[in-house]
Parts: sequence; C-alpha cells; structure tokens
Amino acid sequence: MPVAINFKICDNAEECNGIEVCPTGALSWDDKKKTIVIDNTKCTSCGACERSCMVQAIKVGRTKEEFAKIQKEIEEDSRKVSDLYLDRYGAMPILPAFLIEEDKFEREVLKASKLTAVEVFANEGIMCLLKSIPITELFDGLDIKFRKMEIKNKKFLDDYDIKELPALLFFLEGKLAGKVEGYFENENKQALKEKVKVIIG
Ligand code: SF4
Repeated sequence: MPVAINFKICDNAEECNGIEVCPTGALSWDDKKKTIVIDNTKCTSCGACERSCMVQAIKVGRTKEEFAKIQKEIEEDSRKVSDLYLDRYGAMPILPAFLIEEDKFEREVLKASKLTAVEVFANEGIMCLLKSIPITELFDGLDIKFRKMEIKNKKFLDDYDIKELPALLFFLEGKLAGKVEGYFENENKQALKEKVKVIIG
C-alpha cells in the first residue's frame, strides 16, 4: 500500500529525510517542479520514510482502509507549515535570530534590560519537533526576550547548577530568576506552563 505526504505540514525540501532513507527510490526530488515526488509503484511499505520524518508528515498505509484514513486525516488537517515551524522547547532551533553562541550569553542575556528566557540544550538531545511545545505558548503573551543556546561547555552547567537538558533559564537584571529542567512533551504542556508561571508570575 502507498505512502502519502501531508504537504500542509511538510516543508517540501530537497533534503527530506524520507528521500534519503527510501531504499527503492519511491520518494525523490523533482528539481524542475521543486517538489518531493512519490512513485507508489516502487513503495514496499517498509516504513523507513515514516520513521525518519521529524514532523510526522509522511505516512504509510499498509491496507486500503489505512491509506483512506490517512488521506482523510490529511484532508482535514487544519495546520500549516508555519504553525509547526516555531521554536519549541527541546526541539531543534528554527529561527536563527533566536540562536546564540555561548560567547554571546553575557551581552544577549545577562545584560538584557528585560526578562530574558534562554533555553539551553545539547544538540544530541534534540527531541521531536511535533511533540514539543511552542515556546511562545509558555509566556502567555508576556513580552519576554527568548534565546536558544547549545551548550558545549560543562562549566555553564556547573555555574547554573543544571542537572538536566534541555533547561529553560530566566534572567532579570543579570541574575537567574528561576529555571525549569528536563523535557516536556506537548501532552504535559500544562505542567510546564505552571512551572514557568511560578517563575514569571
Ligand atoms: S515506505 Fe519504504 S519504500 Fe515506501 S516510500 Fe517510504 S521508505 Fe520508500
């Protein structure tokens, strides 16, 4: 049975993981049309593409009924790529403007004039984009500066007594105002929101 791509949430890029892992060439890139192309006559339903897609945009139907269900779900999906490609706690950085190197921490965070949240993460600990919580949802519309910083230096973890990554640290006037440690999936959003609320008031 065939494979389907939910183009509502797929960024339709040549670097698609599904194309890379497909052993049969059922998924390929059409350079003229600038789109991922599916050739279902080559698909063996192995599921490699489905497992490789960070946003779960690729689905494999192993029976007619399953494939019909997938198509219906795609049709009814109200999300857009822009809904998904937000910076999310614990997931890969999306907007380069938020990303800072450790040597920018002092200027961008400690010297910031307003409450600043910095998510510190380790690249090898990046979690699923789809299951992660959009960072903007945590701040309840408050005007909080946000930065994301990959930690390469253990000293930073020691300085702020961080035991688990990712961690979300809040700074005001150069001082740590509070922190949350560990990963929270979307289904535990409320627990994370409450922890953040205690810090930001
Ligand atoms: S299910 Fe397997 S064969 Fe089919 S498109 Fe995905 S990776 Fe390729």
